[in-house]
Amino acid sequence: MTETRPLPALDEPDTGRFWQATAGHRLVYRECRACGHVEFFPRRHCTECGGMELDERESAGDGVVYSYTVIRRHQHPYFRARAPYTVGFVDLDEGPRILAEIAGDPDGVRIGQRVAVEWEDHEELAVPIFRSSPPVP
Ligand SMILES: [Zn+2]
Repeated sequence: MTETRPLPALDEPDTGRFWQATAGHRLVYRECRACGHVEFFPRRHCTECGGMELDERESAGDGVVYSYTVIRRHQHPYFRARAPYTVGFVDLDEGPRILAEIAGDPDGVRIGQRVAVEWEDHEELAVPIFRSSPPVP
């Protein structure tokens, strides 16, 4: 039997909305109406001011690598079979910082590198994975 990727629950109160949107290849975050704080992941309240009125925004999926690490060993069979692979923080152009896999040769990943989202489709959601993209002119 081939191991499959462990997937998040779609009915979790705070993160459910984010994962539901991924089914349509939409990378959503929230912005507070009261203070303008960019909230990611898209919680129900603003973690800056406690405000409860937040508007949903959508990222185009482009950003830069803030930091990363290369996973060479993993307990879970699915991830063990993927190793070595890269996981990193990506600063999206709209402001949110997202933790995600960065596809491609781990030796090719650099801090500050431009990346763009790609989607790994599953039945009810898609997993955002980033890949190197050409620099913005
Ligand atoms: Zn706020």
